[in-house]
Amino acid sequence: MRFQFSTANQIHFGPGSVNQIAPLAAKMGRRPMVLTGRSLERAGGLIEALAAEGMEVFRRPVTAEPTVDMALEAVHSARRAACDLVIGMGGGSVIDTGKVVAALITNSGRLVDYLEVIGKARPLVHPSAPYIAIPTTAGTGSEATRNAVLGSPQHRVKVSMRSPYMLPDLAVIDPDLTLSLPPAITAATGLDALTQLMEAFVSSQSNALTDGICREGLHRVAGSLQSAYENGSDPIARENMCLASLFSGMALANSKLGAVHGIAGPLGGMISGAHGAICAALLPHVMHTNVRALRRRDAHSAGLERYGELARILTRNANARAEDGIRWVKDLCQTLQVKSLASLGLNKADFASLVAKSQKASSMQGNPIRLTEAELMEILEMAG
Ligand code: NAD
Repeated sequence: MRFQFSTANQIHFGPGSVNQIAPLAAKMGRRPMVLTGRSLERAGGLIEALAAEGMEVFRRPVTAEPTVDMALEAVHSARRAACDLVIGMGGGSVIDTGKVVAALITNSGRLVDYLEVIGKARPLVHPSAPYIAIPTTAGTGSEATRNAVLGSPQHRVKVSMRSPYMLPDLAVIDPDLTLSLPPAITAATGLDALTQLMEAFVSSQSNALTDGICREGLHRVAGSLQSAYENGSDPIARENMCLASLFSGMALANSKLGAVHGIAGPLGGMISGAHGAICAALLPHVMHTNVRALRRRDAHSAGLERYGELARILTRNANARAEDGIRWVKDLCQTLQVKSLASLGLNKADFASLVAKSQKASSMQGNPIRLTEAELMEILEMAG
């Protein structure tokens, strides 16, 4: 076995850990750009603490899943303000925007050239400016990944900018920050974490280290996602979901994903549904099609064995088979009121172009079996 493993340089986890950031940040720069969500509410304390350390803070809100243009505007304003440190405090949208800003403070050239699929996937030459990632959702694990996802409305696709330099220098995960997540966002983001853990676990490029991380994360989602959804103030459920999200990011950054993300990337550029909601709508149907394709074409594969183990972890039944895991995920999606792709805005007329785009997505390479065009169409029919 051969593998490499990289993650955020330092990870601080625990309730209240957000209060330890300011003195650490003061050692990393003097003029931070602090990217936040729409409201200042959650970041107000941090901004005051940074100012108390004598830092000149430039705040920038990120109000939606980022597009190339939104990220570029943030880059321009960070360059104009001569920022030397970036802090992203919010959901994956904020954290990803921060990664792009930190990368392009120190690297010149056009943002689009650094993008996969629609650009040249140009590698970064210089390390990014110091970056601190503070997630306030529990789902993307972006605090431990080396990519940022940007939408390109012009190409109707979402694509990644990726570099080892984009791994945050410091990831601070404070579960208390997620107590305010409403049930629908808890569900969508939590199912994103579940999807990432599952896809990394059955991925053709998993390794012994990502396997262990995935098993631990899957146990935590199985025991806590429904509780976090039904009782958002349950601190143990929130803590478990934050760990599961972190683990999902650590795993995906060091293995690959699969067909759910292979479809969700391009689809996110075609409809306005949130990333987590799109993944959730696809997940049970991709599991079904993958398991059937593995049984038909690769019955002795490690992938099929993995789906069995997944089922045993999720159902907590030592005799569970792959199909029981699919049923468990379907039931969870029903409890969490996951919507169909049609109700998120996907039209049948777009199925063919979506299948063509998803076959080119980098995540598709991690799927445990190569799916045919007909199988991808069938997934969309079932999820539609
Ligand atoms: P998000 O960042 O878009 O946030 C969703 C909503 O939750 C927003 O309205 C936000 O204001 C709100 N919110 C955030 N924290 C909150 C809190 N504590 N309380 C109440 N409301 C809160 O959603 P997300 O799912 O975290 O991120 C999605 C983005 O991340 C997508 O663009 C997706 O493609 C990307 N992503 C990136 C990676 C990666 O590795 N880079 C992995 C997965 C997803």
